[in-house]
Amino acid sequence: MPDSCLKCLSCAAEFPHGLYSHGCPKCGEALEVAYRGTQALENAGGAGIWRFAPRLPVPVEFQVSLGEGNTPLVLLPAVSKAAGLPSLYFKNETANPTWSFKDRFHAAGFSAARMLGYGKVVTSTTGNHGVSAAAYAAAAGVKCVVFCHQESSPLQRHMIGLYGALPVVLERQQAMLEVLVRDYGYFPATTMAPLPVANAYGVEGYKTIAYEIWQQLGRVPDHMVCPISAGDALYGPWKGFGELRQMGLTDRVPVMHGAQASGCCPYVKAFRAGDRTVAVEEHPHSIALSIRDETGGRPALQAIYDSGGSALDATEEEIVGALRLLASAGILVEPASATALACALKAGFPADETVVCLLTGSGAKWPETMESIYDRPILENPTLEELAPLL
Ligand SMILES: [Zn+2]
Repeated sequence: MPDSCLKCLSCAAEFPHGLYSHGCPKCGEALEVAYRGTQALENAGGAGIWRFAPRLPVPVEFQVSLGEGNTPLVLLPAVSKAAGLPSLYFKNETANPTWSFKDRFHAAGFSAARMLGYGKVVTSTTGNHGVSAAAYAAAAGVKCVVFCHQESSPLQRHMIGLYGALPVVLERQQAMLEVLVRDYGYFPATTMAPLPVANAYGVEGYKTIAYEIWQQLGRVPDHMVCPISAGDALYGPWKGFGELRQMGLTDRVPVMHGAQASGCCPYVKAFRAGDRTVAVEEHPHSIALSIRDETGGRPALQAIYDSGGSALDATEEEIVGALRLLASAGILVEPASATALACALKAGFPADETVVCLLTGSGAKWPETMESIYDRPILENPTLEELAPLL
C-alpha cells in the first residue's frame, strides 16, 4: 500500500484516511487522496482496478473486486464518419460487472469502507450508483441500504434487492442518509454535503479510466468528453491523467469537456459565466436521469478550466439521436452516456485530433426509456408478403 493521505483541494491541509463526508474539516472543500513518494503504476497481480494497486490507497486485505475495469476502448467507423472524426474513441464502461462505470467507484469505495472498519454502507441513487453499490456490498460482505430516486427504473430496484441490499424509494434522501451515518454507523458511499464535494475514494476508482486509456492508446488523447452530474466522472479521469504526468509517463494531459443535458446543465451555465462554483438548477428535466443532478462539485469545474476545456450541453433530440447512432453502430447506452457523443458531435473538434467519449452506462438497465424512444413497429407473425418488402 502506498504512503498516502487525504488532502484538501483548496487549503491543502492534510488528514489521515477516514470518513470526511462533509469535505475538508477546515474549509469544507473536497478532499482527494494524495500520494507521497514515487510509485510504479502497476503491480504484477490484482484483479480489476487493483492491478493499479501501487496507486490506490487500500491494503490488499481490504480490496474488493468483481473484475471491474479493463473495459474496451473502441473505434466505431460509422460514428467516426458521421462525426467527421477519424480518431473518435469510446471508452465502453458498459462492459463493467453491473454495466456502468460506477463499479470502479464502489470497488475503491467499499474497499475503503472496510479499511476504515465499516460493516454497513448507505447510498442514494438515480439507478446505476445503487445497483453497483448493491453488487459490491455483496462482494464485500457488508450490509447496504440504497435510497432510490422516485423516477428510478423498477428493474434497477429489483436488481438492488436481488444483490441482497435494501432498496428504499425515498423523496428526501439527504436527511435520512445523514441519520443512518450519524446514528446507525453507516458509511456513506456518496457525498453528504449540501453542495457536492468529490468522493475521495470513489474518485480513486474513476482515475483508473485515465490509466487504461493511456495504456490502450499508447498516449493520452487530445480531448476527453465525460457526461457529468456531481462531476466525479470528469474529475476522476482528470486526476488520473495528472498522476500519469507526475509519474513522468506523459508530458501532456487531455483537454476535458463536460457533457450535460440542456434541461439540466448547471456546469454549462457556470462555465459560460466564468463562475468558480456550480449553481443549483431550479427545474431540472431530461431523459438523461443519471446526469440530472441539480448541481455539481467544484473540482470538475476547476478541471475544465485548468485543462482549457469546456462545458457543453445537448438537447433531448440530440441525446436521443446520439443514442440511436451508437446503437446502430453496436453499443446500447443510457441517455446520459449518449450525451457525451451528442456534445462531441457539435463541439467542433479538429478532424486530426483524438477524442475519447466516456460511455458511462448501458441502456439495458432502462427498459422503459428504451421502449419510449423506439419508433418503429415490431412485426409479429407476419405473412411472407408482409415481410418481403423489408428483406
Ligand atoms: Zn480545506
